[in-house]
Amino acid sequence: MKWLAAFLLAVVMIAPGCKKQEQPNGKLQVVTTLFPLYDFAKRIGGDKAQVTLLLPPGVEPHSFEPRPEDIVRVNRAALFIYTNAVMEPWAAGIVAGVEKGKVDIVEGSKGIPLLPAPEADGHEAAHEHEQGGRDPHVWLDLDNARLMAGNILAAMIARDPGNKAYYEQNAAGLTRDLAALDQRYRETLANSPKKVFLHGGHYAFGYLARRYGLRYVSASAVNADAEPTPSRLAELVKLMRRERLGYVYTEELLSPRVAETIARETGAKVLMLRAGHNLTRDEFERGVSFISLMEENLRNLKTGLQ
Ligand SMILES: [Zn+2]
Repeated sequence: MKWLAAFLLAVVMIAPGCKKQEQPNGKLQVVTTLFPLYDFAKRIGGDKAQVTLLLPPGVEPHSFEPRPEDIVRVNRAALFIYTNAVMEPWAAGIVAGVEKGKVDIVEGSKGIPLLPAPEADGHEAAHEHEQGGRDPHVWLDLDNARLMAGNILAAMIARDPGNKAYYEQNAAGLTRDLAALDQRYRETLANSPKKVFLHGGHYAFGYLARRYGLRYVSASAVNADAEPTPSRLAELVKLMRRERLGYVYTEELLSPRVAETIARETGAKVLMLRAGHNLTRDEFERGVSFISLMEENLRNLKTGLQ
């Protein structure tokens, strides 16, 4: 019943004649899917844009199912920004429900080639031609993050050209901060004695590893829905011992059980590595930024690669 009511509401909201004013508070209305897009759009939009995040706090984004009220929300916006079709396959359902020509649909990672993802058993040799075998976590390469900020900037200017100079100035500040962070990553990781890190989560840090010349091994595949098999776990334990790693990473979306099991087997410690798809409610309230999440990741990488 609740669903039906929401659906009817959605139909009413997009019916002609019921069109909401595009910018009710004089601000550019922007709906984003994942946290990095939300954070960049907020920074670039400043007080000229009202940016919201579609994903409720703490929700896993790969298999998220949009609710009818999400389509209502997007229909009221000027811009709908998602990462790419591999990251949010469910965004297509939202786009299909959006009034044509009213909302600008923005692919945040447009122009960035997706790297191949490892196969379901975590093995690294993925074939480029395989359907769906792509890694969508592009924002974890900080230069890609800069390109995404550029896509968001272009979309904001196209929709609200009157504030072009303002958006450009904010985007330039974000770009500077991303470049400085990238430089800190380079300097810190260049001196790390270990060049491999092991993650008890889903495959998300391939872009980061490639950028800084590290090797990355994850327990689960790219879509975050499967626990590793016992034989995969045994392989990871062997790798930990062979590489003499003192730390194993865990993530925010899956249970820490996998990393804890590996740690117990090998005497290693567990550290957090955040891919940043989403934040907890508490983190939103504290105003955690993408850059601060990545700084925390760098501290943990520095420790873990000793
Ligand atoms: Zn992911």
